[in-house]
Amino acid sequence: DVGSRLVSTSAPERTLVLVKPDGVARGLVGEVLSRLEAKGLRLVAAELRTLTRETAETHYAEHSERPFFADLVEFITGGPLMALVVEGPRTIEAFRALAGATDPVKAAPGTIRGDFALEVQNNIVHGSDSPESAAREVKLFFPDLG
Ligand code: UDP
Repeated sequence: DVGSRLVSTSAPERTLVLVKPDGVARGLVGEVLSRLEAKGLRLVAAELRTLTRETAETHYAEHSERPFFADLVEFITGGPLMALVVEGPRTIEAFRALAGATDPVKAAPGTIRGDFALEVQNNIVHGSDSPESAAREVKLFFPDLG
């Protein structure tokens, strides 16, 4: 219909977003949700949970040889996180733009990381970085999602 065409002309795409344990501990879940909803992205799943070591290691498998891997797994399993599946046009790119650069000191002010974080590990949010990662990560966190 005309209404939905005015909102978007591209096919919807899904991404996995995490409000990491630092974001949950600091009370930033609402802030992240309001930014992505204000942007026009739509929530399709949401759950507060504490990751097992196994899930964390699978999620960050591409970093398993990096020197920060052990600390990253400790951090991401260290408390509850908010796992979200978000849908909309060009969602992967759109959420990464909202999140800002990995290093929050380099992230532009106005982005989530640029506004709320200072340390590269404790950078508040995760968003899948490609359609392949998004498919893998959505399945890892929400295997029952249709
Ligand atoms: N990270 C870290 N030290 C580094 C680089 C990354 O602790 O030197 C953490 C940080 O929390 C980051 C995550 O590892 O968000 C994954 O890194 P990636 O390069 O995939 O960044 P992202 O896609 O999250 O921006």
